[in-house]
Amino acid sequence: MNIHEYQGKELLAKFGINIPAGVAALTVEEAVAAAKTLPGPLYVVKAQIHAGGRGKGKFKELPADAKGGVRLAKSVAEVEANAREMLGNTLVTIQTGDAGKQVNRLYVTDGVDIAAEYYLSMLVDRASGRIAMIVSTEGGMDIEAVAHDTPERITTITIDPATGFMPHHGRAVAFALKLKGELNKQAAKISQQLYTAFTTLDCAMLEINPLVETTDGNLLVLDTKMSFDTNAMFRHKDVEALRDETEEDPMEVEASKYDLAYIKLDGDIGCMVNGAGLAMATMDIIKLNGMFPANFLDVGGGANKEKVTAAFKIILSDPAVKGILVNIFGGIMRCDTIAEGIVAAAREVDLSVPLVVRLEGTNVEAGKAILASSGLPIVAADDLGDAARKIVAEVKQAA
Ligand code: GDP
Ligand code: MG
Repeated sequence: MNIHEYQGKELLAKFGINIPAGVAALTVEEAVAAAKTLPGPLYVVKAQIHAGGRGKGKFKELPADAKGGVRLAKSVAEVEANAREMLGNTLVTIQTGDAGKQVNRLYVTDGVDIAAEYYLSMLVDRASGRIAMIVSTEGGMDIEAVAHDTPERITTITIDPATGFMPHHGRAVAFALKLKGELNKQAAKISQQLYTAFTTLDCAMLEINPLVETTDGNLLVLDTKMSFDTNAMFRHKDVEALRDETEEDPMEVEASKYDLAYIKLDGDIGCMVNGAGLAMATMDIIKLNGMFPANFLDVGGGANKEKVTAAFKIILSDPAVKGILVNIFGGIMRCDTIAEGIVAAAREVDLSVPLVVRLEGTNVEAGKAILASSGLPIVAADDLGDAARKIVAEVKQAA
């Protein structure tokens, strides 16, 4: 689960971390009111979308030389003019894809005088089984190029969960950032605070880019991206409440209502599978046969007819889907239940693409009989390889 920059900064502030003052705004009037609460004379108007690279982003509706999604303003009037230009328009950044994201929310912040921009991020590193802190002196908008061209300028420090964050980790961060004196102490402190925030809030990823050194000698979080371990959100109701569904894929939002593990992908073949491993194998075998999956979907072990119907409708609501492959191993879930769900859903939604179904396991004969007597154009398959070949052939034939 992702949240907006302003929400992330408000969470970090609760851990004592320095952030510039700022207020979120949904309208031009609110942006003006927000600016009036700030000291000035420099303000920053920032698009709040769940994607980075805003500064270098381009608005679809504005001329190519117009400013991006992070704008400095030298007066309240300039804040107003910028807010008017940004709100409601579509920002395209390296992280949004070509479609871009509509800007529905701004964050008006106090402008900071920057002496240097650093990079600091944290993530759960599965390779080391630890939380990794990644730091670089080369913070700012070109960090991807730094990682690609000069990886030696990036330092990774891993923290053993048994000891937690130790003073030497803080010193390692400060050393990697080449900071001296008071700033060195601040770097050690802020990295400790960020680690505490990360673990307390069950983050999956926390990126501070840039972490800035101000001209008056302080370290400040100027931008943050935060994402959380969805499985831990039950113990962070306050964080869960920050979810902004308008930023998420509508099909993924719908799937989460039915507790379906659904992830939208770029291919043409919709998949409905039970079990994450079988779902992965199904995607692989579709690729092996020369096409790509339109989604990952695990309906889970104990799905009922309603859940299967919902899953089916979600797949069919994706205009990219040119064919559907259902691959179910009936263990706890019985094949006849699945078959009933498929038939009910196919009738409701007016099935317009080829459908191949492979059923195996408990009550498989009953399931196959339900499909065969449904009168629907369902192609039965015997095993996984057969199913993949058949759906690819059907889709190519229909094209
Ligand atoms: P991003 O492009 O989505 O990563 O957005 P950021 O919040 O990181 O802002 C992009 C860049 O805008 C930063 O790297 C800074 O160079 C600049 N910027 C953002 N806020 C301020 C500010 O308060 N003062 C100044 N001088 N520059 C800022
Ligand atoms: Mg940034």
